[in-house]
Amino acid sequence: MTTPATLQGWAPGRHGARQYPKDLTLRVDVVVLGAGAGGIATATALAEKGVKVALLEEGRHWRPSEFSQDVPRTFRHLYRDRGARSMRGNTVTPLPGGRGVGGSTLINSAICFRCPDPVLAQWRDDHGVSSVTAARMAALQDRVWETLHVTTQSLEIQRLNNIVFRDGAEKLGMKGSFLPRSAPGCVGCGVCQLGCPTGGKSSADRTFLVEGLATGNLGVYAGIRVDAAESSSGRITAVTGRILHPDTQAEVGSVRVEADHVVVSMGPIQTPYFLLANGLADATHCGQHLVVHPAVGALARMPFEVRPWHGVTQGYYVDAYDEGFLLQTYTVTPDQYFAILPTAVGTETMRWMKDLRYLASAGPLVHDEDSAGQVQVTPLGPDIFYHLGDGDRQRLIKGLRRTGEVFFAAGAEAFLPAITGGAIVRDPSKIEAVLPDTLQAHELITYASHPMGTARMAGRSEDGVVDPWGRVWGWDNLHVADASLFPTSLGVNPQVTTMALGLMVGGHLASA
Ligand SMILES: Cc1cc2nc3c(=O)[nH]c(=O)nc-3n(C[C@H](O)[C@H](O)[C@H](O)COP(=O)(O)OP(=O)(O)OC[C@H]3O[C@@H](n4cnc5c(N)ncnc54)[C@H](O)[C@@H]3O)c2cc1C
Repeated sequence: MTTPATLQGWAPGRHGARQYPKDLTLRVDVVVLGAGAGGIATATALAEKGVKVALLEEGRHWRPSEFSQDVPRTFRHLYRDRGARSMRGNTVTPLPGGRGVGGSTLINSAICFRCPDPVLAQWRDDHGVSSVTAARMAALQDRVWETLHVTTQSLEIQRLNNIVFRDGAEKLGMKGSFLPRSAPGCVGCGVCQLGCPTGGKSSADRTFLVEGLATGNLGVYAGIRVDAAESSSGRITAVTGRILHPDTQAEVGSVRVEADHVVVSMGPIQTPYFLLANGLADATHCGQHLVVHPAVGALARMPFEVRPWHGVTQGYYVDAYDEGFLLQTYTVTPDQYFAILPTAVGTETMRWMKDLRYLASAGPLVHDEDSAGQVQVTPLGPDIFYHLGDGDRQRLIKGLRRTGEVFFAAGAEAFLPAITGGAIVRDPSKIEAVLPDTLQAHELITYASHPMGTARMAGRSEDGVVDPWGRVWGWDNLHVADASLFPTSLGVNPQVTTMALGLMVGGHLASA
């Protein structure tokens, strides 16, 4: 951290709210708003080309030793809307997101997938996104892979929650494997979503940001919430915001940053909100086309101890991509298992909690194809709507059935899909009866953590919010660089694609 004396203007390095004067003013080449997967990759790509960058982030800097397993404290500081963000529609779906230098990579499970080739082809052919050539994306994703030190954990670290699912899938001859992850130092403590306490995860703040800072061209300003943009003659001239106290999040000062270029990387909910609230884009496409990879969980009662609260948080998957879904294992902390159990409150819930050490968990994640979501501006912040389409609902149900089959193949005594009513399946022949095609959206206990698509790239201004290089249509010096850019959902976990696009936008802007 710098001392107050160095903060009269732009300075390289990490800065925090305690070091700022009451009214902070900066002048830089490029200001990047939001230090998540996209913002950090963009800022690094710019800094590597000699551009002076200020990266502004609402949350604070974190060291691994500061993360704790105190869930309410973690939600208050590390999660957007203190962990309460959700989407309303034909089902209500929690939509957690990260907050802090590192963004959602601070709390993600570190799963790494490259963007599937058919998705990139669709972006080029159907959306005119000529920038995402196979060769360019391959090179960018290679860089991400290398910088994140992507690897697969050993069996010893995976532990039984992942191994049980692997065993069941192998017995059924399903295609699956242990997941590549950006966690080379993972010890299998199973708390990725509370911040990695060992530093074993390669979150963006510990990888790309370190490379960006080493250039001497990047200043990271934590504790700044950006609210507004000033413009003149078709150009953004400055952004303004508030300094937030790192503990109380109370407003303690103001910020004004003048820059030649502005990159918005606040994530797929806050980015369209910022653009719309400031009149920088209209709602024809901005805030529309929200996709999220809806997911539903499931538990299985095994005849042996699994101890699901430890081991790799999400270590194994079954590949049903061609059918529109993946099955992925997951684990949460014991208090979170208690909160999400779909059983009737009382004796039934306590019985499952008593058996927690025998439980395993996994579920489907769906490639949204016919669902529709949007982000709207309200005086209280973004309002998020998501209607689960019939096809996606069917794929979730099919994925849940498949999850049950895998668990029974692995020897499960009972299967508890996350549907309302808490139906328990004790016989594999009854799976379909409990999970019929007619289950409605509101009967599925849905979850999502991959918002995408709300400021999509397009080859023509009529079809999207930004051009194929991330520049907002109608503005010379305003860009977007985060998961908002995706013209469609991916069907696989999105951090690698987000970082690759961040590198692309930053590199292109630096050479423009
Ligand atoms: C619980 C969880 C688990 C996940 N697991 C995986 C996984 O295993 N693999 C995977 O590939 N993906 C995973 N993801 C998704 C992945 O992390 C995100 O897709 C990716 O981080 C999105 O990058 P982004 O830049 O769009 O947004 P983010 O990384 O969310 O960054 C946005 C940043 O902008 C900041 N910000 C917002 N508004 C403002 C403002 N007004 N002023 C200043 N700053 C602001 C936020 O605080 C945040 O730090 C997971 C996500 C979550 C939440």
